[in-house]
Amino acid sequence: MPLLSRQDLEFCLYEMLDTDSLLQSPRYADHSRETFNQTLETAEQVATKYFAPHNQLADEKEPWFDGETVHTIPEVKEAFRHFVNAGLLTARLEFDEGGMQLPHVVAAACTGYVTAANPSSAAYPFLTLAASNLIRHFANNELKSTYLPLMRTGLAAGTMALTEPDTGSSLADIKTSATPTEQGHYLIKGNKMFISGGDQDITDNIVHLVLAKIKGAPAGVKGISLFLVPKWLVDDNGEPTQRNDVQLAGLLHKMGYRGTTSTVLNFGERDQCVGYLIGEPHQGLKYMFMMMNEARVGVGLGAAVIGYRGYAESLEYARERPQGRHPSNKDPASKPIPIIEHADVKRMLLAQKAYAEGSIALCLYANHLIDRIETCDAPERRQPLQELLDLLTPIVKSWPSEFGPKANSLAIQILGGAGYIREYPVEQCYRDNRLNPIHEGTHGIQAMDLLGRKLWQAGGLGVQTLLGEIGATLQQAGEFDELNEFCEQLQAALQLLNTTTESLGGQLQQQGPDIGLANASAYLSLSGHIVVAWLWLWQASAALKGLHNDSENPFYRGKLQACRFFFRWELPKIQHWSHLLQSADDTCRTMQNDYF
Ligand SMILES: Cc1cc2nc3c(=O)[nH]c(=O)nc-3n(C[C@H](O)[C@H](O)[C@H](O)COP(=O)(O)OP(=O)(O)OC[C@H]3O[C@@H](n4cnc5c(N)ncnc54)[C@H](O)[C@@H]3O)c2cc1C
Repeated sequence: MPLLSRQDLEFCLYEMLDTDSLLQSPRYADHSRETFNQTLETAEQVATKYFAPHNQLADEKEPWFDGETVHTIPEVKEAFRHFVNAGLLTARLEFDEGGMQLPHVVAAACTGYVTAANPSSAAYPFLTLAASNLIRHFANNELKSTYLPLMRTGLAAGTMALTEPDTGSSLADIKTSATPTEQGHYLIKGNKMFISGGDQDITDNIVHLVLAKIKGAPAGVKGISLFLVPKWLVDDNGEPTQRNDVQLAGLLHKMGYRGTTSTVLNFGERDQCVGYLIGEPHQGLKYMFMMMNEARVGVGLGAAVIGYRGYAESLEYARERPQGRHPSNKDPASKPIPIIEHADVKRMLLAQKAYAEGSIALCLYANHLIDRIETCDAPERRQPLQELLDLLTPIVKSWPSEFGPKANSLAIQILGGAGYIREYPVEQCYRDNRLNPIHEGTHGIQAMDLLGRKLWQAGGLGVQTLLGEIGATLQQAGEFDELNEFCEQLQAALQLLNTTTESLGGQLQQQGPDIGLANASAYLSLSGHIVVAWLWLWQASAALKGLHNDSENPFYRGKLQACRFFFRWELPKIQHWSHLLQSADDTCRTMQNDYF
């Protein structure tokens, strides 16, 4: 079974998002649809040959620590090596940096294959990619020339070390400290927890990007700086010289993503942990947000493709598993039918298709936005797109992270008892995917970021830009009578969004954030559903164009049916969320600790 549907990816890339139009930009002049597709092909091969075969084994045989060294199964290192050798780690870099100068949207589709194949082994290269991008943007030339070659060739992996035992969501309260030395570096001291890839035997060195506070820094997030802390100190040629004072305190044992090491790290137990400041002091969170925003879009995509894997597995199972008969058939001697013939099983498959393919379209759209921002030469056109990306980032992270695991849960349901046992892959999909609403900013934190900050940023320019984008789709969809029902529904949904947002703006101004933000997660659900409905309408328009030349094509018919499912079964839920939000429902906020 393929890891993802190539037809669906190419549909999103070319028939929906018009990725070909990027070829007009000088940056992509050497590319063509063929080169994009060749890279997809390479990614699929690497994912299928080197990542997928040990997905279950890495889950069963978690990394272990013998007191001195962390061990992972050898297949993880092998997969990492093939990922690097295929050029996937540097795919987005410029040609003169050894990259392929690939658009974000194509690179994202490539990474989708690798995560779908094996999310926990994919985490090592993806963290390395994100960390090296941050160093590339913000570190000084010395750090760049020392560490980037190591990371780009797979000799060193990257981590992001934010979380501490007492500080997760509230980074303002981190305690890790940094003391300047006369030699120009800093001494780092503190404990970090949950650090993915914080120790491993896959690469010779590890480059930790650590948030810490320089002694005397302002309180809160304004006092956070960012440091590069290598596991091994290196000479000018990047060769390891001596171990830095970063100690593994232990490995954590997880529900899913079990092949990725989850570490507790002690920095500076011997007061000798060398860290190098990245950029300016006290700007660390700003820099880290670049990595986190990229990581958030990546988390959304991960949730989407793991959702898709479960869908594909349960679809195949439903086609082959005979059980029962149609309710009208009372003949016990008749042959049982495959469960895909039961309407309720079709409901569960359609929901998975709507969630997973809707999420993939959402994440690819976010990457397409990044490409538009990067290729746009007029600043007045770039800013609205950047505001739109900022506005959508919490949705891109959170909507797939909520509905990906829901899709996986439905996949388990379709397999019945077989879904609950480890001989079938869907229970692992669910366990892996369940991480996504937790890391990179929990669901609740994303909801408050959307309603408390992003919505109002730059005078609401992000929302205005979103409405412009949706307007273009409505115009396109208006050409098809079949889509009238959905166009009207989406227009009504936009009105409801507007009324709800105005009401919340009033609550925030007049009653303050404790009341205004109390039901933020309902706002995330409301706006997420409207955004995904828009993307389904867009896909339906593209499918109808495809049907013009091939009227019975089942792929396009499937897109139309899934769009219909989303509009009829999912979108009406926004009425309920809007009611809770507009009435400033205080059921949750006024519940008292001792009433539980
Ligand atoms: C497998 C795994 C991998 C991870 N990888 C990394 C990594 O590589 N690097 C790294 O730095 N961290 C990593 N993390 C940590 C992760 O980012 C944190 O777990 C996450 O930020 C939440 O922090 P916490 O666990 O301390 O939960 P808490 O912050 O204690 O939150 C617990 C609950 O309270 C809610 N909550 C907290 N504050 C508020 C608030 N102000 N308003 C409303 N609700 C609130 C949250 O939404 C959540 O539901 C990883 C975690 C896991 C599980």
